[in-house]
Amino acid sequence: MSLIATQLIHWHKTHGRHHLPWQGSRDPYAVWLSEIMLQQTQVNTVIPYYARFMREFPTISSLAQAPLDAVLIIWSGLGYYSRARNLHQAARMIMQDHQGQFPDTRAMIQKLPGIGRSTAAAIAVFAFSKREAILDGNVKRILTRYFGISGYPEESRIKNLLWEKAEEALPVTYRRNQIETYTQALMDLGATVCIRHTPICKVCPLQHHCVAFKEKRIEQLPTARLRKSLPKKETVFLLLMQHQKLLLEKRPASGIWGELWCPPEIKIGIDAASYCQHQLGLIVQSLVELPILDHQFTHFKLRIHPQLLQVVSNTLINPHNKLIWIKPSDALAQAIPTPVRKLLNQHLLLDNHAPNKD
Ligand code: SF4
Repeated sequence: MSLIATQLIHWHKTHGRHHLPWQGSRDPYAVWLSEIMLQQTQVNTVIPYYARFMREFPTISSLAQAPLDAVLIIWSGLGYYSRARNLHQAARMIMQDHQGQFPDTRAMIQKLPGIGRSTAAAIAVFAFSKREAILDGNVKRILTRYFGISGYPEESRIKNLLWEKAEEALPVTYRRNQIETYTQALMDLGATVCIRHTPICKVCPLQHHCVAFKEKRIEQLPTARLRKSLPKKETVFLLLMQHQKLLLEKRPASGIWGELWCPPEIKIGIDAASYCQHQLGLIVQSLVELPILDHQFTHFKLRIHPQLLQVVSNTLINPHNKLIWIKPSDALAQAIPTPVRKLLNQHLLLDNHAPNKD
């Protein structure tokens, strides 16, 4: 067995995490959901979302039968909504193409939407005890440090090398649960000891053979990407109020926040009153500029200029039924992105819909 595997399996007995809600389950659906939720989100944030999701959609079949809107509502606030859309699509594929049976090999699992090699491997390990290597962000960090590998880990040459190391480090699997314990131990070490900033090397079971530790290169590994500053975009959100209700629009399926509910959006410099009159059939009675809200995506920064407008209308122009009037408190229960949730909480749920003065 590799040295890493021996040390990690031993370490995990006393120092690993053993009580996460999805642990101990061999249900591939539960494993899959937890792995997807954990992809870009911290464990503590995931736990309540995971519980709620499992309550609402306890099986693949219940998820496949649910409308996408209902899934997005449960996901609302967790971010990276393509994860929810892919889960939903994959559940339907499993029902249609696999007779409701979750595929049991890494290669087959990887064919489902939203599942890359490492996630497929983790599901194959935890649900089916397959001897597969994972290589998520935490594992990349551990391996680059342990083996002293320089170079940006997402660059294909480095990534291939890391996959080789990840495969070599796998334990032999003649003992029950060996591969599961090893994989969980890697995840736990990355989450609790070999953390991004200031790893706790003094309690690390890999310390004696860790190249980065020996050569004092921990700060330099993993090699950071040469960062260009993120592009910035700006937009105007129109918070249109009539009879204490807010106008929301369902966004198109593609693009940011696909199929979520947002206020109508216009480009900077467009006259809001004229837009409302000609595009929506609404007459603006008052307009208040609200404080700017900045939101960061992985690939760009979005600066939102919210405007609160009181409007009247007889005939809302709504040819595709993408617009709804909704009480701000009810909007919170819909699938809305985090910045919209913030705007509602800050400006529409206090003081009888008056804008914040501060
Ligand atoms: S010794 Fe430190 S840098 Fe090396 S694997 Fe352990 S925690 Fe990470």
